[in-house]
Amino acid sequence: MEKIYNFINGEFLPATSGLFFDNLEPATGKTYSLIPDSDKEDVELAVQAAKKAFPVWSNLSNDERSKWMLKVANGIAKRMEEFVAAESKDNGKPLKLAEHVDIPRAISNFEFFATAIVHYASESHHMVGTGVNYTLRKPIGVVGCISPWNLPLYLFTWKIAPALAAGNCVVAKPSEVTPYTAYLLCKVLDEVGFPKGVLNIVHGLGHKTGDAIVRHELTKAISFTGGTSTGKAIASIAAPMFKKLSLELGGKNPNIIFDDCDFEEMLATTIRSSFANQGQICLCGSRIFVQKGIYDKFKNEFVAKIIKSKVSYPEDPKAQLGAVVSKGHMEKVLSYIALAREEGGKILTGGERVNLPAPHDEGFYIAPTIIEGLSFDCRTNQEEIFGPVVTITPFETEEEVLRMANSTDYGLSATIWTSDLKRAHQMADQIEAGIVWINAWLVRDLRTPFGGVKSSGVGREGGWEALRFFTEPKNVFVKY
Ligand code: NDP
Repeated sequence: MEKIYNFINGEFLPATSGLFFDNLEPATGKTYSLIPDSDKEDVELAVQAAKKAFPVWSNLSNDERSKWMLKVANGIAKRMEEFVAAESKDNGKPLKLAEHVDIPRAISNFEFFATAIVHYASESHHMVGTGVNYTLRKPIGVVGCISPWNLPLYLFTWKIAPALAAGNCVVAKPSEVTPYTAYLLCKVLDEVGFPKGVLNIVHGLGHKTGDAIVRHELTKAISFTGGTSTGKAIASIAAPMFKKLSLELGGKNPNIIFDDCDFEEMLATTIRSSFANQGQICLCGSRIFVQKGIYDKFKNEFVAKIIKSKVSYPEDPKAQLGAVVSKGHMEKVLSYIALAREEGGKILTGGERVNLPAPHDEGFYIAPTIIEGLSFDCRTNQEEIFGPVVTITPFETEEEVLRMANSTDYGLSATIWTSDLKRAHQMADQIEAGIVWINAWLVRDLRTPFGGVKSSGVGREGGWEALRFFTEPKNVFVKY
């Protein structure tokens, strides 16, 4: 059985405990590799390595750091096929999704921040006749990055790349559920001779390894993406230690469809925004609100398309949905479908586990599920399910749909479909979300601020926001 190793100070190491635990392949439900069961001793080694590496790395010029990061981007690109296959195997997502989305984006994350840092300028404030202030932007030191399983390498590198570009040294933990491509990234670091100790990757369980990263007194900033309850636990430890915190948390995003939208484009995009990556994207629109004039047409055509969509093993080129990430997650999603039934919801399609023939007969597959007939404030419509499950709800007026859309604790993203320009802008202004798409979904420009409001998070990633997060401003005044 293949073993995954930690990467600390440029070396591949088992956990100091010597223990490993199973890494399951969601498509088959079988163990296929072993993950180091790291604890605070391993985190201590990683933090000390990062601390030692910091003076040299932070004093490289932006150009030099940029060149190192571009080497990593090229190193991933050279092993593209291997990364794609590994991401799909580890996560259960269709191979073509990993090929078109996950791995290209991981490469872009390194390229984007490698080039952003050479254009990063700090501010100066002139006081006429008195003097000038200029603001230095210094790297923080050792920072912790913790990421989830849904877009494993994509979200991992989205944190690591700006942290490194800004001159920090990193201790990072991928989700224990999907560690493999982070391990491959270590092989790339090794191949390109990346400076030792600058990026340390420690595998293990959230409550052990993740917790140790958050608690360590030398990790001065924590960038976390994951569930809202985990974010809350992390904040309760990190806030009293006055660490900088970036929290990208859960969502329950509304997809608001008005009568006057471009129906065909809306329908094609809504299929993706509902079920891409088995609905396991924090930006998926899981609450679909449809204006009454087109509600029946939408319902019939949406259901007709989804009934035909193919749930299959990840390597199947025709697979539209693959496996969900784990048995535990599959059970959670199915329990929400049962809850929806209890709450009076009508399952229009899906609603159950899909059984594929051997060798995938123990894999974690769920049919894409559309539910109607639920009130906007029931638990199914308020809590994050994070799987291939959406609800559809009719509405009449803008006021009514805004009230329903804004009724959850979450505020990550929203999608609005209309050809009325004025209404689109007004809705975008009033919706409680960090990200709004009008007549589109998941169009991403890496320069834009990314993150949510309310229980969807604190702070923003992306572009200058990320570089600001990973640096400390220091204002200097010079008197004339
Ligand atoms: P979790 O919160 O369970 O885990 C996220 C990461 O935190 C994992 O690496 C996990 O390790 C680790 N972790 C768990 N407990 C602790 C702890 N006590 N201290 C430190 N680290 C810990 O989320 P999931 O992995 O289940 O991911 C799904 C969630 O992520 C969804 O809620 C989704 O909405 C959200 N998400 C948000 C995004 C955004 O940008 N806003 C983007 C993508 C996902 P381990 O795997 O071992 O538990």
